[in-house]
Amino acid sequence: MMIKMNSEKLLYEGKAKSVFQGENDDEVIIKFRDDMTAGDGARKESMNQKGYLNSILCAKIFEIMEENGVKTQLVELNEPCVMTAKKLDMIPIEVIVRNIATGSIVRKFPFEDKTPFNPPLIQMDFKDDEYHDPMLNDAIAKALGIVTQEDLDQLRALALKVNEIMSKMFKDIGIILVDFKIEFGKDKDGNIILGDEISPDSCRLWDAETLDMLDKELFRQGKDDEVIDAYEEVFNRLVSDEDKVRYGIN
Ligand code: 5GP
Repeated sequence: MMIKMNSEKLLYEGKAKSVFQGENDDEVIIKFRDDMTAGDGARKESMNQKGYLNSILCAKIFEIMEENGVKTQLVELNEPCVMTAKKLDMIPIEVIVRNIATGSIVRKFPFEDKTPFNPPLIQMDFKDDEYHDPMLNDAIAKALGIVTQEDLDQLRALALKVNEIMSKMFKDIGIILVDFKIEFGKDKDGNIILGDEISPDSCRLWDAETLDMLDKELFRQGKDDEVIDAYEEVFNRLVSDEDKVRYGIN
C-alpha cells in the first residue's frame, strides 16, 4: 500500500529521519532518509540505499524485540523507508550500552581500547545538539525534569534486556555487538516504549572473525565508500528470504 506523506503534516525532521502525522491520531509515519551525518551534523552526505537498508533492519530488530517481550514503537513497515509507528513523547536521553570499550569512552576515560565491559556499561547522554549531548548522571537527569528515578531504573533494565537480545541475535550471524545507542518515549498511558531506531547507524558492529567494522563508524572515519557495503552485509545476514517476502522486497 502506498502511504501518502503530507509535508504539511511534518511533525519533526531529524538528521536521518522525518516524522509525519499518521492517519490515526496516536500514530506517526517515519520516513528513513539517505542522509548520514557525523559530528553533531557538521558533516552530511547522502548515502544511496541507506534509508532502505536501515528501515528494514530496524523493523526486523524491533520485531525481534517484541518477540522477546520488549515493547517498541513499530506498528508496521509499510514499504521500505516508510514505517508506521506509535506516537511517543520522546525522552531526550540517549541510552548507550557498551560491551567493549571503544569510541568516546576511551577518549574521555583511561579505558584501554577493546577492553570488554563485564557487566555491560550503561551510559546516559542528554540528547541536545546545542549542548553536544553531554553525559548525564541520575541527579542531573532528575533536576532537568526529564525523568523520575523510576523512569531511570526502567530505562536501565530495558537497556540491559535489549543488549541481551541483540547480542545473541548478532552473535548468531557472526557479528559482535560492541555498543549501541537507543532512545525511549512514553505512550499516552505513560508506558516506556523503545523508539527511534536500531540500525548500523546507531550500533558498533564488528565481524566476529575479521573484526571489520560493519556500521556508521566507517563514515565517522571518512571511509564513505565502504559504508553501504557494510550495511548490506548486516542486511544480508539478518534479513531472510521469508522476511523479504513479508516486507514486499526481492
Ligand atoms: P560513542 O559515545 O562511543 O561515540 O558511541 C557509542 C555508541 O552509541 C555507538 O554505537 C554510536 O553509534 C552510538 N551513538 C552515540 N551517540 C549517537 C548519536 O547521536 N546518534 C547515533 N546514531 N548513534 C549514536
